[in-house]
Amino acid sequence: MAWFTEKHTPHAGITLELGKTLFDRKSGFQRVQVVETLEFGRMLLLDGCVMVTDRDEFIYHEMIAHPALLAHPNPERVLIVGGGDGGSVREALKHPEARSIELVEIDGMVIEASRQWFPALAAGLDDPRVAVRVADGLAHLEGRPGGYDVILVDSMDPVGEAAKLFTAPFFRTVKAALRPGGIAVFQSESPFYHTDILRDLVLALRKTFRHAAPYLAHIPTYPSGLWSFTYATDAADPLTVQPRAGGPWLNDLKYFHPGLFHAAFALPNYLRTKLG
Ligand code: SAM
Repeated sequence: MAWFTEKHTPHAGITLELGKTLFDRKSGFQRVQVVETLEFGRMLLLDGCVMVTDRDEFIYHEMIAHPALLAHPNPERVLIVGGGDGGSVREALKHPEARSIELVEIDGMVIEASRQWFPALAAGLDDPRVAVRVADGLAHLEGRPGGYDVILVDSMDPVGEAAKLFTAPFFRTVKAALRPGGIAVFQSESPFYHTDILRDLVLALRKTFRHAAPYLAHIPTYPSGLWSFTYATDAADPLTVQPRAGGPWLNDLKYFHPGLFHAAFALPNYLRTKLG
């Protein structure tokens, strides 16, 4: 039996028993693979890094989307940068208030592979409320000042085309693209293995926004199994905001619930000291 290993550090990583390889091609940006695993089901890999697995993708997608979409009083215009697998779009569609959802993914092959091999994940991409663009997120945002209520930066590790999504110029461009009261959320890496990346991102966001606060979620196939997202806004402080009640669909979520909203922002001491 074959095994897949992704190194998270030079001395540690994750290893998964593999089944069939379903898709394996190189795009203009990266190697895109879809493989079967015995423990986590179907898995999307980009340049050998785990992006999505059938078994734990719900955690990442519920936690990148719902806190901001419920904290915003009326999230009509939503933008997702990256996220070509479609999972964040699926979650955003659960909010009837979200009248327009734009997905801006730089690599069309990621969208194509997801449509083919993760149909449940990608199903929302054909919804009439959704517009899919194959483009660079930064370039897209530069042309749309004051365009969005909520921006979700569903990127990947700060390498290649994604590196610019972890920079101060990008953060300023995101802020300029938000409407008054707007909220942005950035996937911000493993708080345990990438503490410095998270610290630099949070401190840079605090120079751009009134509030920037990381929150955490447990994602078994991601480095260290603990992942972070950083919430940034000039509107209400996420530590005190009262999120909207949402609707009956909330009861069908498998990870997020309203009680987790503020709890997810409670950080362990090693992070509190590091992030100040
Ligand atoms: N959940 C995953 C994670 O945290 O590792 C990320 C999922 S999503 C697949 C990340 C996507 O961001 C990739 O499909 C990649 O092609 C896209 N991406 C990277 N840089 C980008 C950019 N500058 N503009 C738009 N999309 C970008």
